[in-house]
Formats: sequence, C-alpha cells, structure tokens
Amino acid sequence: MDGSRITQAPPVLILLGPPGAGKGTQARMLEERFGLVQLSTGDLLRAAVASGSEAGKAAKAVMEAGDLVGDDIVIAILRDRLAQPDCGNGVILDGFPRTTAQAEALDQMLSESGQQIDAAVLLEVDDVKMVVRIAGRFTCGGCGEGYHDTFKTPKVADTCDCCGARKMTRRADDNASTVMSRLDAYHEQTSPLVAYYTDKGALRRVDAMGRIEDIQKAIVTLTERVMP
Ligand code: ADP
Ligand code: ZN
Repeated sequence: MDGSRITQAPPVLILLGPPGAGKGTQARMLEERFGLVQLSTGDLLRAAVASGSEAGKAAKAVMEAGDLVGDDIVIAILRDRLAQPDCGNGVILDGFPRTTAQAEALDQMLSESGQQIDAAVLLEVDDVKMVVRIAGRFTCGGCGEGYHDTFKTPKVADTCDCCGARKMTRRADDNASTVMSRLDAYHEQTSPLVAYYTDKGALRRVDAMGRIEDIQKAIVTLTERVMP
C-alpha cells in the first residue's frame, strides 16, 4: 500500500492505542474536518448501559471492572451502527476493533459492502502517563468536548468553552484502579492488532505524547491521503 486509494468506497480509518491515548479527541477532530463519522464502541456501549437494554445490562459490570465486553455484543452493536446511512461518507473507528476476533469480523463486514480499511493509525504513548491523563479527564455533557484537570481546563470553571453548557461529566471507569485493568486488557488483547494491520500494510504510527495540535497535524496528513 503506497497510501493512494484503489477504491471509491467510503474511507475507513481505525484509531488504535491504549486508553487515554487521545483516540476520542482526534476522532472528533477528523469528524469535523473531513465529515467522517466517529464510531466509538465505548460511547455506543455507554449508551446501551444508560438505556438499560439487554446488551447494556450484560456490559455494565464488565466495563466497570475495566475488562473487555464480549466480542459478540460489541460486533453486533458496531454492525448495526455501521449500517446507518450517515456512515456512507466514511468512518473513523475509535475503540474498535480491540481483539483479533473483532478485527476479523470487521474485515468481513467491510468486504460485504465493498469497503476496506484505509489506515490503522496507532497512537503511540507512554503507558505510565496514561494513568494520570485518564484520572484527570472529564467531558462536556452538552457537546462531548473533552477536558482535563491539568492539561486542558475550561476558561470558566465548570463551563464548556465550546457550547457553554454547565454539565461536566466524569466516566465511572476513569479511576486509577480500573485504568490499570484497561491497560492490561489493551496489552493482552488489543496490542496483537499492531502486527495484524502491519501485515496488511495498513499500520501508520503517530507519536501521541506531544502537543494535541502536533498530533492532530500528523493525523490530518495521513487522513488526507485516504480521502477520495
Ligand atoms: P478507553 O479507550 O479510554 O478505554 P472506551 O470508551 O473506548 O475507553 O471504552 C470503555 C470501555 O468499554 C472499555 O474498557 C471496555 O469495557 C468497553 N469497550 C469499548 N469498546 C470495546 C470493544 N471494541 N470491545 C470490547 N469492549 C469494549
Ligand atoms: Zn460543550
């Protein structure tokens, strides 16, 4: 793969990296900039938990423990979401796939619709720092903008810079002990995907320990190469 596209099918980008690497932040940026749709299985699962659906009930305790939700549940949720019409402009997968079985299921789903993965962007970070990053983060409940106690505080306390809402939320699983389990799950079950996408010629590495804007620039460059 030399970076040029061979199909006219909607682009499919994957963001890979441990919890706290910044997948959500970068996915939101790509969504705005390129009109791609961010598909976060974490967000989809949290919505399922909040709705009290069967899938949500099964996922709740697993997520609180920092373990991975079962492949069948996650694959079904992603398949439904991917079939919705807004995905026709292309998607950024954030938090999926997380296991080899999910990656294989994704390949299968995409081939059914004549699509393929354009790039799997690995956000490379220092694990030890992720604990601090995650324990300090919070999100605007109005628009989804992400903030951090140390690295990115709102201009006016508790008020969103973007939409003005005053309802910041913190995720139940963003505490130090759960973070350790989530990092373990990443190393044991998700990191094999680095080899999986390297073998397919799709892996792209980005140093994700620097400034958000620099990381953004690197990802934009990679994305421009796969946009039709
Ligand atoms: P983070 O990347 O910061 O861990 P996410 O919002 O992506 O956060 O995921 C939160 C939790 O949701 C995970 O710890 C896991 O329990 C569950 N989850 C999300 N995506 C998947 C997936 N693809 N497979 C299994 N579990 C998932
Ligand atoms: Zn907001």
